[in-house]
Amino acid sequence: MEPQKEARTSPALVARPPGASRSQRLSEEERREGGASLVASTLDAEADSASAEGLWELPVEPAERRPECSRCSRPQKVCLCPFLPVHPLHISTHLYIIQHPAEENKVLRTVPLLAACLPQDKCKVKIGRRFSEERDVELSTVCRKSSTLILYPGAEATDLEEFILDSPVYPSTIIIIDGTWSQAKDIFYKNSLFRLPKQVQLKTSVSSQYVIRMQPTNTCLSTLECAAVALSILEKNSHIQETLLRPLQALCSFQLQHGAQIRLSKEYLLKNGLYPKPMPRNKRKLRKMELLMNSVKI
Ligand SMILES: [Zn+2]
Repeated sequence: MEPQKEARTSPALVARPPGASRSQRLSEEERREGGASLVASTLDAEADSASAEGLWELPVEPAERRPECSRCSRPQKVCLCPFLPVHPLHISTHLYIIQHPAEENKVLRTVPLLAACLPQDKCKVKIGRRFSEERDVELSTVCRKSSTLILYPGAEATDLEEFILDSPVYPSTIIIIDGTWSQAKDIFYKNSLFRLPKQVQLKTSVSSQYVIRMQPTNTCLSTLECAAVALSILEKNSHIQETLLRPLQALCSFQLQHGAQIRLSKEYLLKNGLYPKPMPRNKRKLRKMELLMNSVKI
């Protein structure tokens, strides 16, 4: 199932928070399938390491984990490599994904698919919530360059397509935050570094194809979709968007065929009176919901 033997998502490119061990990073899927007891026993073993001297000599059964494809990071049985380009796409833009630590453990994460489609030196994933100039010199240098953009929607953001028409410096790097909307907001506003680059947004009427995770509106795009649209604009090549979305479409159709339900957006559910939870009491939240129902951009 795997046309290329080479592992594309190099761990060296993924900056992990200090102390995060594999045992703490088991995916939800693994937990569901009995991984939880393995996690507990591994963590217990770590905690009791002082009293466990000598036990290390005993033969240990290898931990049973579902083997993961080294290229697409999907379980081998549902490897998506046949839907990835045979060779990484040729791009000149550098992409930095700032990933909230909670995203890394999600079963249906899209960033490994994105990284597998791009050259290793053009797609870097940084995991964390807080980034400072002292702790991340590379990122701070990137954020200070006039040719770096950050994709984060809002009143301050310029439409990417309009921006490149007028910009005297052609963008060389784009930063995208990967997380839920509230996680992304927290990362953007609590790290002053991310307000240094020019803030851009995508003006797109494309509905998200990532139908198996709930998005606030039909036009809220997943990180992979955002990267696909942004890169195709920056590289002036619509083929990039098609290629990057192919594995996502395959992932969604596979999940749907295997019992996943289409997660309709909050906007759709509200407009059609299908929203399953009671309306919030908090006035600000209620106002947000009303705006969503009336499709006013928030
Ligand atoms: Zn694969």
